[in-house]
Amino acid sequence: MTALSSLGAPAEILQQQRAFFATGATKSLTFRAEQLKRLKAAVLQRQTEIVAATKADLGRPEYEGYFELGVLNELTYILKRFRRWAQPRRVGLPLTQWPGSAWVQPEPLGTVLIIGPWNYPFQLLISPLMGAMAAGNCAILKPSELAPATSRVIAQLVNDTFEPHYIAAVEGGVETAQALLAQKVDHIFFTGGTRVGKIVMEAAAKQLTPVTLELGGKSPCIVDQDVDIGVTAKRIIWGKYVNAGQTCIAPDYLLVHEAIKPALMTALQQTLRTFFGEDPAASPDLARIVNDRQFDRLTRLLAGDAIAIGGDTDRDTRYIAPTILDNVSWDAAIMQDEIFGPILPVLTFQDIETAISQINARPKPLALYLFTRNQALQDHVLANTSSGGACLNDVFLQVAIWGLPFGGVGDSGIGAYHGKASFETFSHQKSVLKKPFWFDLAWRYAPYAGKLNVF
Ligand code: NAD
Repeated sequence: MTALSSLGAPAEILQQQRAFFATGATKSLTFRAEQLKRLKAAVLQRQTEIVAATKADLGRPEYEGYFELGVLNELTYILKRFRRWAQPRRVGLPLTQWPGSAWVQPEPLGTVLIIGPWNYPFQLLISPLMGAMAAGNCAILKPSELAPATSRVIAQLVNDTFEPHYIAAVEGGVETAQALLAQKVDHIFFTGGTRVGKIVMEAAAKQLTPVTLELGGKSPCIVDQDVDIGVTAKRIIWGKYVNAGQTCIAPDYLLVHEAIKPALMTALQQTLRTFFGEDPAASPDLARIVNDRQFDRLTRLLAGDAIAIGGDTDRDTRYIAPTILDNVSWDAAIMQDEIFGPILPVLTFQDIETAISQINARPKPLALYLFTRNQALQDHVLANTSSGGACLNDVFLQVAIWGLPFGGVGDSGIGAYHGKASFETFSHQKSVLKKPFWFDLAWRYAPYAGKLNVF
């Protein structure tokens, strides 16, 4: 374990990184490209280890373990474009400011702190790291202690590939996170729950450090009447039960038009059987719950008589069957907080305006999903709800389009990343105005008498 003791105290790591940053080495675009390529090679070399670690931590099917390696795809995207993003952008001048030129010049922030969660423990740390590196920063990473095998792989990968004065990974739990948060870094990028997000923002406020908070929430999935039921069911079941529902952008609950509900419930049940067989506990394609605490929280939510499909649990293996709850009301316990597990409550609507006002009465979610062929309805829902992102007629996949900024709004987060948005998150956009000496009008200088008519 790369504990604080072997790397030095947070203050020491930070001091080393500040000294290295001050050399200007990270400002070179060639240096950045070389380091990103080293990161790519290190990830490629450890692919099997990374997938095995997420399997050890989350009982994940190997196929889903490979989702973590989506970072390679994003890395290629960034490597191709970051030089362009780093160029100054010219801005026009008003006539009153002629002659001269103005531009926006991105500059790196310095040392950034990246704190990750356990649910996609590799990519949610490495993806922001790539943005931080492309933008020319040093970085300290704190993987989640609740995914210990992945945390170890990340620490080994990072600390074998980079000098700690450039990039350092520090393993540990809450105390380690707090020790790091007590330092004055130049940006904090946090992915995790809303409760801890508030703690992070409070710590950041003490140092006046800017934050990006990638949080969670209850992402609604609306299903209208005009859909292909079979495809809708497949996409929803896949997006909900990948990683056993422990996905920040999983559809949290279904809001189904009453007229289509019986047919959709049948299709959901058939799809579950096709994906996971008669006994999902025996399926190799279903992850497990990360720890006993989460397991106990989720099984408490199962108490009650709303279970329409599934409901089996086994604490020894932390197995929870893909479960669908029917006839759920808005004030049920399951509708109060993000579920973050393989339980899908189904609510219905008759009138879309009521559905929209129920969604809008709750904190703004990270994602909103809408299944319908009706273009007017798509436009109406998008225009009248607010969510970090949205996806029409599918779920989850919006996260893997590198041209789309990924982030929350309101309680689901502050700021965004992925691709260019990551580069911008980890850059300061410095505004510059340049003037020549040869032209100098007297109108702005004192004495001002008789000059007001200029305005
Ligand atoms: P978490 O908030 O419990 O922990 C995240 C990190 O914060 C961990 O590294 C942990 O060590 C640290 N931490 C925990 N308590 C702390 C404290 N008191 N002070 C300082 N640091 C502390 O989150 P989690 O349980 O690992 O992840 C699940 C949550 O993350 C869900 O709400 C999910 O929606 C959200 N999430 C969001 C995204 C996104 O991209 N928006 C992605 C994945 C997960």
